[in-house]
Amino acid sequence: MTVPFNTFRDFPAGLQQRVEEALLAEYRRNRFILGPSVTAFEQAFAQYLGAGEVIGVGNGYDALLLCLRALGVTAGDEVIVPANGYIATINAVEQVGAKPVFAEPDATTYNMTAATVAPVITSRTKVLLPIHLYGQSCELEGLLQLCAQRKLLLVEDFAQAHGATYKGNQIGTFGQINATSFYPTKNLGAVGDGGAVTTQDADLAAWVRQYHNYGQSRRYEYALAGINSRLDSLQAAVLSEKLLVLDTLNQERKRLAGEYTRQLAGIGDIVLPLVPSAEIDHVYHLYVVRTRQRDALQNHLQAQGIHTLIHYPVPPHLQPAYQHLGYQKGDFPITEGLAQTSLSLPLFPGMTDEEQGYVIDQIKRFFP
Ligand SMILES: *Cc1c(COP(=O)(O)O)cnc(C)c1O
Repeated sequence: MTVPFNTFRDFPAGLQQRVEEALLAEYRRNRFILGPSVTAFEQAFAQYLGAGEVIGVGNGYDALLLCLRALGVTAGDEVIVPANGYIATINAVEQVGAKPVFAEPDATTYNMTAATVAPVITSRTKVLLPIHLYGQSCELEGLLQLCAQRKLLLVEDFAQAHGATYKGNQIGTFGQINATSFYPTKNLGAVGDGGAVTTQDADLAAWVRQYHNYGQSRRYEYALAGINSRLDSLQAAVLSEKLLVLDTLNQERKRLAGEYTRQLAGIGDIVLPLVPSAEIDHVYHLYVVRTRQRDALQNHLQAQGIHTLIHYPVPPHLQPAYQHLGYQKGDFPITEGLAQTSLSLPLFPGMTDEEQGYVIDQIKRFFP
C-alpha cells in the first residue's frame, strides 16, 4: 500500500464537482482581474473570521510584505519571528529592509510565546510576527500584553491555521494587520497561488487595497507607487466554494489527528502534539511527532510506501541565505532539536481509515 503525504480527494463528497463548476462559471464570466468573485470571497472570508476587512493578494509572501509595508516597517526596525518558522515569513522581513530577530519556540507547543520573545526585544523592535505553526493557535494574550507593555505591533502569520480559534475567536483577527496564504496544501487552499491580508483598521485596509494594485486610487490615478499582487479571480471562485466546507475539513483533520494521538500514545519515544489548554485550538495543518530515531523511522515508512516530510529540516538561522545575521549552530537549541527529531505524518481530508491504520501499524512495527 502507498500512502501519500497529502493529496486532494473528493472530501466532503461533491466538493470536487462544485469546484470544477465554480471554475468553469468564473471562466465564462470573463472577468479575470479583480472581478466580483474576488469581492465576494473577500466579504465571505471577512464574515467567516468575524471581524474587519480582507484584501485578497497574490500569495502568502506578498501578504506578509504588504502587512509590514502598511505598518511602515523599514530599515533600522527589528521584527521578531519564530526561529523554527517557515522561510517566507523571514524573507518578507528582509525584503522591507528590516532585521529579522529569531525567538525560540515553546518546547512543547512549538509556538513562540511572550516568555520566549521577551529576551530578544530591543529598543529597535517594532513588530512581533508569530506563526500559528502546524495549525495550532499561539498563546495570543501573552503576546498582546507584551505588545501593550513594550509598544510593539502584532502581525499574525496564519497561513497554516485557517479556521483555528484562540479563546473562541478566529485567529487572523488579533494583530493590527495579519497575513495568510492559500497555497494549495493549506487548510483553505486554492488551486494555484493566493493569499490575503486581514485587518480591523480601516486606514490600513485602504492603504493595502491601493498599494497591492499599483497604488491606484481611481482608474489611472496613482496615490502610491505600489506593486501588483492581486488575488486571481479564478482562485477566488474556488476559495469561496472551499470556504463553505472549511470547518468540515478542519473537523476531519481533527478527527484524524485524534486517532493518531490515541493509537500512538506510549509507542517508543514518540512525542505527540500537545494542545496545552482549551483556549488554544489546533486545526492540524500538519501532524508533527518527534523521536530520536527520526531518520530511521522516516526511512522505514518510506520503504513501506508511506510518505512523510520534515517541517523543517534546516532552521532559517543555519540557511546559507541568512548567514549575514550572524547566528551560529547552537544558538537555538529547541529549534535545532526540532529540526533533528520532528516528522510530519500523512494527514489530509479524505484519508481513509485503512490508510491511517496502515501508517499507525507500520510505526508500531518500527518500535519494538
Ligand atoms: C505557506 C506559508 C507562507 C507563504 O505562502 P505562499 O503563498 O507560498 O507565499 C508563509 N508563511 C507560512 C507560515 C506558510 O506556511
